[in-house]
Parts: sequence; structure tokens; C-alpha cells
Amino acid sequence: MRYSRFFIPSLKEDPKEAVLQSHKLMLRAGYIRQLSGGIYAYLPLGYKSLKKLENLIREEMNNAGAIELSMPFVQPLDLWKQSGRDKDYGKELLRFKDRQDRDFCLAPTYEEVITDLAGKNIQSYKELPLTLYQIHLKFRDEIRPRYGLMRAKEFIMKDAYSFDVDMEGLDESYRKMKKAYTNIFHRLGFDFIFIKADSGEIGGSYSEELMVVSEYGEDKIAICNNCGYSSSLESAVSVGYSPEPLKSCRQPRMTKLATPNKKTIEEVSKYLKINSESFAKTMVYETEIGFIAVMVRGDREINEHKLKRIAEIKELALAKERDVEEITGAPCGFTGPFGLKNIKLIIIDEEIQAQEYWLTGANEKDFHMANVKPGRDFTADIIADIRTVKDGDICIRCAGHLNVRNVIELGHIFKLEEKYSSVMDAGFLDEHGIKKNFVMGCYGIGVGRTFQALIEIFSDENGINLPILISPFTVSVISLNHNDENVKNIADKIYEDLLKLGLDVLYDDRKLSAGVKLKDNDLIGVPLKIIVGNKAVKDNKYELSIRKSGGKEFFDNLESLYDRVKKLSLIETFIDIVR
Ligand SMILES: [Zn+2]
Repeated sequence: MRYSRFFIPSLKEDPKEAVLQSHKLMLRAGYIRQLSGGIYAYLPLGYKSLKKLENLIREEMNNAGAIELSMPFVQPLDLWKQSGRDKDYGKELLRFKDRQDRDFCLAPTYEEVITDLAGKNIQSYKELPLTLYQIHLKFRDEIRPRYGLMRAKEFIMKDAYSFDVDMEGLDESYRKMKKAYTNIFHRLGFDFIFIKADSGEIGGSYSEELMVVSEYGEDKIAICNNCGYSSSLESAVSVGYSPEPLKSCRQPRMTKLATPNKKTIEEVSKYLKINSESFAKTMVYETEIGFIAVMVRGDREINEHKLKRIAEIKELALAKERDVEEITGAPCGFTGPFGLKNIKLIIIDEEIQAQEYWLTGANEKDFHMANVKPGRDFTADIIADIRTVKDGDICIRCAGHLNVRNVIELGHIFKLEEKYSSVMDAGFLDEHGIKKNFVMGCYGIGVGRTFQALIEIFSDENGINLPILISPFTVSVISLNHNDENVKNIADKIYEDLLKLGLDVLYDDRKLSAGVKLKDNDLIGVPLKIIVGNKAVKDNKYELSIRKSGGKEFFDNLESLYDRVKKLSLIETFIDIVR
């Protein structure tokens, strides 16, 4: 492809609407353009690269025995009523009417359609197991689309669905898909991990999320640096430990300490010269059963997810200032666990129970209380793990330490079992001629999101730097002085030769300065550059520049240059050599 004939509308400046580096680069390099909030066009460069990513995914899905198909993006709402999910999806499901006043929606996912298809077209157990997949559009009417393709309304996903006769079959189909995912994300060069997850609105009995570590990730997980234990931060657990009680706290009775205008734990610990770990914070929440008081160590965060589960409550919000004053007799910031009015439950973290004495609020303005003893000065209704794991906590499985990391969810695999097949009456006849429901699994990869995550990881200050297997072009030929007839002739020849060798080559034939051309090729992320200048004309010297390593190699004949480019273009070896 000649640069002058291709469509690469690159930008000089960073676009203002983008926050993530990957989003800025995709706009600047002319990979994508936004049409409307959360709705993007893939421009030719981005599309070329996306297709390579899709093909890599396709290859591994096919190797795992899955079969590709394509389902309609526009779906009758009736199917969604059958499964009951028209309600579950709420406003994310974009609904509309056709000219005959029938209800339709844009597919946010395809469980309904595939279950319907399978139910109507599979008769016998002999046709199973079967795994079908597609790489296709989805639409979710996100309230706040952001970060480019990371959280878009219209997006591309690979979604696969397995159909088995029983649970053992499902386990095997699930194992194969998980293996395929491992291959895909290894080949792409990601640092990833599978995390057991809540199944959310897709449902089913068991699911795992494929998470990639990235400082820009919106989710958090805890990982053990020793045994590999990992969990979403919402559910992660750690060994509760307590610091040695301070000497000054060894007195038997509660002692009131003046803390004038010191409200936050930081202020109070600094003022009293007491470690924040010796401090217990008491928070009042409003719930559907009334007000509850919750206690964790001063340096801890309350895990509201765990709290809801343990207290069996749905609504949870911090109590208003006015209510706190009524309950405790003091403004916010001085709450202690004793003498509280109108409290339905006191829930304390197991770390609070594990230590004898604590410093807490005194339920009096400008005072805190030392030597507050659980069981003596107040009684907890529930003692449980309600704290959020933090960096450095001790792993419950080994003596290792937990690290909290930001992650991006790129894949999600589910054991659906009979969730959809039972409500949609979709099944097969077993060997005795008895009708049974399909035992199903479903397996998604956010393709657009994976694409952007790759750019987030594989980029530098000069631009996009994707691995060769998905970069839009493998190699560019850059003529340094395209007005020079001799330079142009050699560059023309190299371009033609590389095309004949079957390489994906971009020929930068623009009559621009060498500096501009080199910069543009770095911005759009061409991994290999062959630079043709006067040295090629005079001395038969050809320069090959490798984007990833920044290395330069010189060749004194074209054959050896081509051999080297061919070798580097072999995907797997390239990753070995350069990474
Ligand atoms: Zn561990």
C-alpha cells in the first residue's frame, strides 16, 4: 500500500476528549473516530489491525473445535421476554419498534438467539457437544461511555456458546475454551489472570473473568505474590492481624481524651501520637432495616459488598450528618460503638474482636475514648470479615503478601448450565428418547477493548507500538528524498519485491521531509522500517530499523535485507527476539 493513496487522517495534537494514552493515540494515529458518544468508526489503519486481532482469536477458537456463525444484531424483543432478561437489562437494552409496530432491540448479548437457534435445530444427543461462536457487534446503552473503545456503547465481541448433554460435558467444553483463551492472551503478550467472579446479569453457576493488569483498569483485584491466590477486591480475604496494643492503652477502664477539632483518623492519630492501626473507626449506615453501626480498624476500608452479604441487606448508604448527631449525640468524626441510640445492628470486623483495647470516638464533640474493649464496653451483633484487603495483607492460603492491582476485564467465561435452555425449553432427545435441556456455557472476549488494551500496553512516547502479529503493516519502506529519481527507483523496487514476497508493506512515497515521515511511521506503529537514502544509491547500503528495540541493522545487499525482514515477520519468533 502506498501511503499517499491510503487514508490516514492523523492529528498533530492530543485530542482533548481523551484521557487514556491508548485513546489519544488511536485518535491521533487515525485508527478510530468517534461518531457519537461511545460509538466509533474504525478507520482503515485501525480496521486492518483489528482484523488481524480477530483472525488470531478465530484461529484459536477454530483450533479448540468451535464453529463460527453470525447472528442478527437486531433481535425481536419477544425472545428477551421469554428469558425474562428484557427487565434485567433495564435501560442498557436499546429497544425500538419496526414499521409494523413490533418490538425489537439491539443485541447486548446473544444467549437468547443462540438458545433459540439450537433448540429449533438440534434434535439428538448425537449432535452434541457443539460450540458455536461469532465475532460481532453488540450494543449496550451505557449511561457513561468513556475511555474510547474500553467502555463504548457499540462494541465488537467474540462470543461463544457451548451445548452439552450433561455437566461433565460442560466441564470439558469450558476447559477447552479456557485453554483457547490462555493461548490467545499469551500470544498477544498480555500479563493476565483468571479471577472467579460474580456471574452478574448473564447468570449461571460459575464464572471466571480474564483480567489484565493495567494501572488504568477500572477494577481491582488482590493477588498473592507467593501462592497465586487471586480474587476481585470485593470478595478478597486476608488474614486479620492486630498490632500490639500500645502501652498507654493497657489501663483497664475507658479513658476520655481531649482531641479538639481533630476529626479524621489521620488528625487524631497524629495529635495523640498513636498509630492509626490502634484506632477503630465506627461508621453509621442507613439501610432498609434501619441504622447500623459498623467498625473496622482505623487504617481499613469497610467492604460494602461483604457487609451487604453478611448483614443480608440490599440498601446501604452512609447516614446523614443529622442522623449521626441524633444517634451518637456528637457530630460526625467522633462516633464510638457504645451508648448508641436507635441502632438495629452493630457489626464489627474480626480484627476488632481480636484485639483487647481500641481507641474510638467518644460520642462527644472534641473527645476520643481510649481502652474501649469489645464485649465489655459494647456488644457486637455480628463479628465477621467486613474489611477490604489492602496491599501487604497476609494471604489466607500461605504466608505470602497480597498485592492490590488495577485490572481491565477482557474476557469472561460462564457455566450457564440450564439457565437459558430451561426457560426457553431448548433441548435434545437423549439415547432413551427422553427430552432433556442443553447444558450450556458461554464465553466472551471484548475484542475492541482487547485491541485498545494492547495499544495501552504497547505504546511509547513516539506512538503506537503493537506486536507485529497485529500491527496494521509489518514493514514500511521510507524513501528519504523522494524527489531524487535514483532514491525513488530503489524504493520502488524494494516495495515491489516485498509485495511479491507476500509481506504486508506500507510504502511512504510522500514528498515530505525524512523527519516527518519517520515520525508518522512511528506514530501509526509500523514495527519495521526500511530506510532508503543516498547510501542505498551510492554504496548499496540499506538500513533496517526495528521499532520495538530501537535497534538499527545495515545490509549491503537486498537479498539479506529481505531474508531478515521475512524472519522478523514470522510472528512468534518476533516476539521472542524483541520482547
Ligand atoms: Zn498465598
